[in-house]
Parts: sequence; C-alpha cells; structure tokens
Amino acid sequence: MLRSLYWVGSALGAQRLPPGALRALQLQRLRRMIAHCQQSVPFYGALWAKTGVGAADLRTLEDLARFPIPDRRALEEEPERLVARPHLGLYRAGAGHIRRSGGSSGGPQLEVHADAASWARLDGFYFRALRAVGYDPRVSMAYFWGAPLPRRGLARAGLMMKVGVPAHLDEESQLLILEQNPGIWWYYHPTSLFPLAKRFGERLRATSPRGVISHAELLPRSMRAAIEATLGVPVYDQYGTSEFNRMAWECPARRGYHIDADSVILEVLGDDDRPVAPGETGRAVVTGLINQMMPLIRYELGDLVVASDRRCECGRTLPMIEGIEGRAADVVTLPGGGRRTPRELLEPYGGLDGLEQYRIVFEGPAEARFEFASSREEVASLERAIRDAFEASCPGVALSLRRVDALEKAPTGKRRMVSLADGVAGGASASRFVE
Ligand SMILES: [Zn+2]
Repeated sequence: MLRSLYWVGSALGAQRLPPGALRALQLQRLRRMIAHCQQSVPFYGALWAKTGVGAADLRTLEDLARFPIPDRRALEEEPERLVARPHLGLYRAGAGHIRRSGGSSGGPQLEVHADAASWARLDGFYFRALRAVGYDPRVSMAYFWGAPLPRRGLARAGLMMKVGVPAHLDEESQLLILEQNPGIWWYYHPTSLFPLAKRFGERLRATSPRGVISHAELLPRSMRAAIEATLGVPVYDQYGTSEFNRMAWECPARRGYHIDADSVILEVLGDDDRPVAPGETGRAVVTGLINQMMPLIRYELGDLVVASDRRCECGRTLPMIEGIEGRAADVVTLPGGGRRTPRELLEPYGGLDGLEQYRIVFEGPAEARFEFASSREEVASLERAIRDAFEASCPGVALSLRRVDALEKAPTGKRRMVSLADGVAGGASASRFVE
C-alpha cells in the first residue's frame, strides 16, 4: 500500500514536468532498462550482439531507433528467453502477475509476467489517468472484466473499491448490477457499453454514472457519441494492452490521448520504420520502462495510431497521440484502391436507430457480411440504413446482412468488430501500413 502511494505521487508529479525534464526522466529509465536487458535478458543480449548495438549506444532518446524491432513470432515462440535471469524462478513457478496478449496474427499468445515491485509501480500510472478525469477514489467503480478481481493495495484501505460486472453476463444482467449501484464510476468495454446504451437508454441513464471510462477495445466516434447521448456524461477513453497495461488516456480536454511517457516509449512508425508526421497514421511500437521481469523493447503491437505534436490545453506535458485506428491486420483495401482502417470501417453505424451490436466480416476483397443485433421486431428500415451507409463507406464491396441474437464475446469480454478472412488484409503485410 505505501509502495503504491509512493508511485501514485511519482506519476502525478511527472505529468507536469517541463518537457526537457520529462525527457531526461524517460532517458534515465530507458538507459537503466536497456542495460538490464543487455545483461540479464537472453533474447535481447543475443539479438543486440548480432545487430551490433548495445547500452553504450544510447545517448539520447532518439538512439532507441538504432535497436532492432524484434519479430513478434520470435518472442511468442520462446517467451522464456524474454525473462530476466534473476526472475526465472518466479516465472517458472507462474508466481508473477500474468497477462495474456492477443497474439500476432498466426502466432501464439504471449504471456507477459511482471514481478510485484514492477506491478506496484504500474498502479501509479493507472491512478493518474483516473484522477485526471475527476475520479474520486472514495467512490466505487463498476468494473467490467473477465477475471475475478484481485484486491490491490489501495482497495485494502477502502480506496478505489470495485463492483465487479462479470464479462460473460448478457446486457440485461449487467444492467441489473449497475442499477443496484447508482452514482458510481464505470470502467467498461465499448462493445458492451454501446448495446446497453442503445437498448436500455432510459434505465441506463437513470443509474446516473458519476463518470465513464472506456478501454480495452477500439472506440469509434459514432459509438462514443451514442453512449454519451444516452448517459449525458462524457466517456473518457483509455488505450492499453495486456503487454504494457495502460499506455495512453484522455484528459478532460479529450483532444487526443496523453501517453504514459514515464511508463512507456510509444513510437508511431511508418513503413520505413521512421516516425510518421503529426496527424499521420502509423504502427505503434512500444518500449516498456517498468517491467523488470519480462521487458519488451520496441515491441510491435500490431495497432495503428495517429501521431501528434499537440501541447494539451490542460497543461500536462505528457506527449500525445491523436487517436487510435485499430489493428493493422484489419485494414481493408477497397476494390477501387482506397483503404479503410478498422475505425473508419466501423464509424458510419454508431448512430443508426435500433442498431445495438454490429460486426463487419470481410469474406473476400469485394465481399462483406454485416452481422448485427437489434431488439426491435421490425428492422427493414435499419437494414436499409446499414446498406446505404456501407455503400458510401466501402463502394464496390458486395454486402450481405445477417441478424443475430448477440455477437459472441471472448472470455475477456472483448468482441471482434472487424474480421478479415485470410488473404483480405489491406497491406502487403499486415504490420506494414502507411497512409
Ligand atoms: Zn490534456
């Protein structure tokens, strides 16, 4: 608990450091991490020796670009080589904090293990983003999640208490839990919050959430607008992954996401592995500065994000990204040559009346199936609206519609909203995307 509080204080202080001081802090943490990896992590020791780079080459933050971006398959196939030698016993005992990644397309999942000391530090970053949007740690948080909730340090002191909303529940059952706990904060997946808002508008609004945070999945603007229109409170989106925990988040200004730059270095790279210009979309390549047990250096996340050089009006100096576009592997090239990121594919539908869940499945380059759920009996006009919106968004792609009772969820509560059959991926290779 004291350790967590210390790191909360550290994280709160870092968000308003002068930019030079923040970069100095990043460089100090990066140097320590690179030296640690070179000395203690077999995978990086071998890779960097082969490439001819090492800790001595790291004089500025820009020097990180001299280190290779590992092939994700290589990491997924031999995860134990990513574990720092001092933590190998803990790793083999399965005693660390374990999170599973989605895996690159075709690769196995990567289990990321963290030691207790590193995990406690991540609590600080977690709290910072909540505090930024006005979260009061004495108020409970409805927490939509697939696993039972461990009691973390602060909860033992009655702070940041959670009300579990098990991810496997259907919308009606989730609603009952929220109704029994009015006036609290919500921490929710967009693909589960959206159907609640669209189907149970009045009842959901009557639960009067104090504030709403979305995370874990892509949040198209139209879905956000629909949720906010129902609830009458803003939705603050956060960007995280199982590999690094939370990495970026919206402040009250909601004009882009502040990066947890004292926890991760998030590079936004183009096809040539160089940074893209502000406003352009690129691949998210991330280096963790905290996890000592299983470090990830220049890790290809497989996500597309939009670079930014914005200085936020809120005064926080943490650097920003403009937005999140979804998985690179789900980018679609249209028959006419245009490309659509997952966010662009999903955008036209959030506001359609009666649409409660949806997913777009590309069965071929010019053939898609739109799966949707609606509690309305009559959906003819909804179907017409879907067809019109799809034709405007993806000209030249033949569309079939399939109504379902509900779209399935993974045990984590996630729903795939865009799905591509093999061979339909937009780029020459999925991880290589430039605008
Ligand atoms: Zn801000």
